[in-house]
Amino acid sequence: MNRERLKKLAKDKRFISGIYNYCDRWCERCQMTSRCLNFSMSEEKFSDPESRDIQNEKFWNKLSETFRETMELLRESAKEWGVDLDTLDDKEDVEDLKAKDTAVNNHLLSRAAKKYSESVEDWFKEKETLFFETVSAARDGVDLDEAVEVIRWYQYFICAKVMRAVRGGIVEKEDEDDEFPKDSDGSAKIALIAIDRSIGAWAVIRHYFTDDEKGVIDIIAFLDSLREAVEKAFPNARAFIRPGFDEINKGLSGN
Ligand code: SF4
Repeated sequence: MNRERLKKLAKDKRFISGIYNYCDRWCERCQMTSRCLNFSMSEEKFSDPESRDIQNEKFWNKLSETFRETMELLRESAKEWGVDLDTLDDKEDVEDLKAKDTAVNNHLLSRAAKKYSESVEDWFKEKETLFFETVSAARDGVDLDEAVEVIRWYQYFICAKVMRAVRGGIVEKEDEDDEFPKDSDGSAKIALIAIDRSIGAWAVIRHYFTDDEKGVIDIIAFLDSLREAVEKAFPNARAFIRPGFDEINKGLSGN
């Protein structure tokens, strides 16, 4: 895809601006693919099955081509706004970025979200017998695989979004611009949605997995505390209007 094509796509009215910023990245399940520039670009870019294969050199070539084109467009737009991106990486900025990285990594919420990802990994490593519960759940018409898939999808996503919210909170404090909706609230909102869904999925597991009820209850309790802490740190997150999902599809259970 060349730059002109990229520009043309970006101007297409079909697409909802920024819809991909606060979604859960689960494109296979997304009801808004036709309104998402990100999705259209990947479909166009990786339409050739060979180019979807991450083992394949062509995939990486396409990916680096996409980064290059995006950077060129970014530089162009920045120039139009009177910003010279080349001046942004002086020593002071780099030090500032490093300090922010450290603050984000050390933040209690980031550490708790990371701990959750790790606990999930440990839990699944030890529970090889989950298969038998899957069979018994299926007898009741419950798809346990679905619950596992939801937990696995959000396992690292929650941490990534919580950390982005924390970072946003730090940056926004410096900017003090109350006029626009805050990225930190949007990131916290999608993290909270992912936590809600994960708790729901763990509740299904708990019902069928009687072998380690305490282990599952501990994870649910931890996740619930994380949810409470995120809500406390970002009190406006739940009210944040995510482009596309909360404006147009109010009430839909999509991303
Ligand atoms: S908005 Fe939907 S289609 Fe676009 S990136 Fe997010 S999940 Fe994928």
